Amino acid sequence: MIADRMKPLVENNSAIRMMFEEGKKMAAEFGSENVYDFSLGNPNVPAPECVKQALVDILNEEDPVFVHGYMSNAGYEDVRQTIAESLNRRFGTSFAGKNLVMVCGAASGLNIILKTILNPGEEVVVFAPYFLEYGNYVRNFDGRLTVISPDTATFQPNLAEFEAKISEKTRAVIVNSPHNPTGVVYSEDTVKELAAIMDRKQKEYGHPIFLVSDEPYRELAYDGVEVPYLTKYYANTFVGYSYSKSLSLPGERIGYVVVPDEMEDSGKVLAALGIANRVIGSVNAPSLMQRVIARCVDARTDVEAYDRNRNLLYQSLRSYGFECIKPQGAFYLFVKSPEEDEKAFCAKAKEKHILIVPGSSFACPGYVRIAYCVSYETIQNSLPAFSALAEDYGL
Ligand code: PLP
Repeated sequence: MIADRMKPLVENNSAIRMMFEEGKKMAAEFGSENVYDFSLGNPNVPAPECVKQALVDILNEEDPVFVHGYMSNAGYEDVRQTIAESLNRRFGTSFAGKNLVMVCGAASGLNIILKTILNPGEEVVVFAPYFLEYGNYVRNFDGRLTVISPDTATFQPNLAEFEAKISEKTRAVIVNSPHNPTGVVYSEDTVKELAAIMDRKQKEYGHPIFLVSDEPYRELAYDGVEVPYLTKYYANTFVGYSYSKSLSLPGERIGYVVVPDEMEDSGKVLAALGIANRVIGSVNAPSLMQRVIARCVDARTDVEAYDRNRNLLYQSLRSYGFECIKPQGAFYLFVKSPEEDEKAFCAKAKEKHILIVPGSSFACPGYVRIAYCVSYETIQNSLPAFSALAEDYGL
């Protein structure tokens, strides 16, 4: 009944989603306070109060025909202009509303970018570990994925292998910083080096190679670390942004794509993105949420809450003997599995009611991802179980 290309997707349905469903079942059986579900990157911090206020005010104050109506496929012009000005204030860029296309979250943004630029058979480079949906998005447009192996010492991108693997067929490179699943933030030096390699390769092959910055975690950065704004380092850069994590609105499906004027043929690319929005079936980003964003453009989530979680979990796990680099952003710890088969480790953790995701779900076996976007109490309550798990492995 289903198309051949859908069959593998159905058969290999996301391990993360399955673990999330399992967590709900376990919570019903054992009580939610006795299940430590670190499987899904679903923000536990509620959306800032201004989101609720904006919703109420918009419904009371704005014309319903306008608020719920169709608009240009790229989104409301005033909303895009407001976001552009906020970016310019914060990152020293010089965008106007026309440089933005409103989209249904990062997932949709990545799909319209790839729809716009990718020809069948062209390659998209990603750095392992990576968000596994990238592969599905690339395959949506008959592209091919080129995976760069991880540098497990730092989880910064392996640039030597990257340079060697860029080919004549390479059309785009996707980066994600702050990073899911490691929490790493790419340093300015890394970004400069990456941009220099791409510049050299563009010249060598005589056609553009696009950098796609997937950055739903941009605002979740700790210890004052800088997250470089990539359009400032490389002209052919798309920024794919989402409010799913930064304003805790993952179900609302709202974000934007930025195309800087410096990109080759930026006007044509922007026009194509708008059309891609339409033909992919999204048509436009949700109208009500666009209007909310315009009123909450500088609102911030409670990053300190994630930071407290990060410190407690990182310090505790290290003290029990687990190996892990300290993340500087996002809300994930990427921990080395104490046995080679990390799926077996996840199964043993589950026996102690700890739900975590195998690194193979991010093309990086031997590690596990712990999403600490949970309550502080959940982390506190889980610590004896983690400690017992470490003891079972003789750490
Ligand atoms: N990219 C990365 C790295 C993610 O971690 C996620 C979601 O977890 C997404 C994209 C998709 O985000 P959105 O909900 O905005 O589509």
